[in-house]
Amino acid sequence: MKESEGLDIPTENRCSFCDYLSGARLYTVLCRNEQVAALVTREQRGVGHVLVIPVRHVPTLLEAKQDELHAIIDTVARVASAIDVVFGRPGIAVWQNNGTAAHQAIPHLHFHVAGTLPGGGTDFDDVPELSVAETDEIADRIRAGAPSPICDLPSKPALPN
Ligand SMILES: [Zn+2]
Repeated sequence: MKESEGLDIPTENRCSFCDYLSGARLYTVLCRNEQVAALVTREQRGVGHVLVIPVRHVPTLLEAKQDELHAIIDTVARVASAIDVVFGRPGIAVWQNNGTAAHQAIPHLHFHVAGTLPGGGTDFDDVPELSVAETDEIADRIRAGAPSPICDLPSKPALPN
């Protein structure tokens, strides 16, 4: 795989997100399709905090293919709509970090989508780590309230990369 030119990528022996998707480690997968998955993070930094990732191991935004990027942003928008309906927050933050200098902690491309906290914004300090049972409950609430199935994307002809 082509690596980015200048970014310092976090180094860890195994990719946590790949382990979650393979089932090697337990985690709450809100939904997935062939290209993207939405995970409920155990570190909730907002009210309803979901991660949208490509299923393929892609280190940063710079290595993603065009069809993955399109699927990711479609899913980010659907997650945001679901968070809006389910949690009714006055703001929804979307953020994404590339390289350790940008505070990327896991070397697998991910977008954060989170409803804002009471008082505004999201929490970038230490937050309590929820159990998977607790994040499963958050996923159930989001699935039940989502205006459309989050990972059911319309099939489109593949675009050239
Ligand atoms: Zn990975």
